Amino acid sequence: MSDPRADSAPFPQSPVVPATLEGLAPLTFRCRKGIACWNACCSNIDIALTPVDIVRLKQHLGLASWDFLKDYTVPYEMEKDGLAGVKLRPVDGGSACRFMTAEGCSVYDDRPTACRYYPVALLAMRKQDEAFDRQYYAIVREAHCLGHAEPRTQTIDAYRAEQGVVAYDEAARGWRQLILKKKSSGPTIGKPSKRSLELFFMTCYDVDRFRAFVASEAFAGVFDLPDEELRAALVDDLALLQFGFRFLRQVLFGETTIALRSDSVEQRRARMAEQRARVEREAAERLARDDDEGGAFVDL
Ligand code: SF4
Ligand code: SF4
Repeated sequence: MSDPRADSAPFPQSPVVPATLEGLAPLTFRCRKGIACWNACCSNIDIALTPVDIVRLKQHLGLASWDFLKDYTVPYEMEKDGLAGVKLRPVDGGSACRFMTAEGCSVYDDRPTACRYYPVALLAMRKQDEAFDRQYYAIVREAHCLGHAEPRTQTIDAYRAEQGVVAYDEAARGWRQLILKKKSSGPTIGKPSKRSLELFFMTCYDVDRFRAFVASEAFAGVFDLPDEELRAALVDDLALLQFGFRFLRQVLFGETTIALRSDSVEQRRARMAEQRARVEREAAERLARDDDEGGAFVDL
């Protein structure tokens, strides 16, 4: 039976049922091996990855984050000229997931958040006048997915717990908050610089490169992070991600989340004064040279 609410969908082709649901809403659905549509969902993918998904998958595959990004993902723009996201790259020349096998998902224990949620979609929202985000859900009904006809009903919250998505959401909350804050603050924050967009990408998706950056002398020269906090941040990928979200609040929104070294502030001032003096000296020298060359030209 077709869903009567589908007629009011803003985008008639969209499989997302236009209703915003809370966690206690019922979900009638079951996916099971042997169902006639087995693997249909994994044959045509469009899966955005969270930073937590990337950590779990690159650990599962035993890859460094940069190798995982290069081989298994494609970047995309989450908003025009804004923050970038990362999607799972399908098989060469096709749309199927590279992890799909006849038996099912070959990375099942570490499958991405979107795969765990399906056929539920997470809608994280933040109102312009609110400082916190809210989590709602929507149901995705695609014609090929027969799981909706299976006689099993539970709440969305129970389904989330069953699919192990609660811990994933919690670990990725800081990342979603950065995106929501960027989107809801609009022009007041302005367009982030190319450098801060690069830092966002490295921090959120390329965790092994971010680790090297945090452990570098350059980082220690600018940020005054107690050794204990530094060690706790470097101890594992997920701890490093949490530190990264904190770091990005400073980079993107100017919040003071990590103290700056006072000597680095002074050093930066001294460097800027030195730079200004050099520019003025070079301009004066150029002027003097032009005067000399100008004289020679007249003489000829
Ligand atoms: S990661 Fe696994 S569940 Fe997700 S699309 Fe690929 S094969 Fe399917
Ligand atoms: S029931 Fe839906 S989620 Fe499960 S295999 Fe079929 S298409 Fe995929």
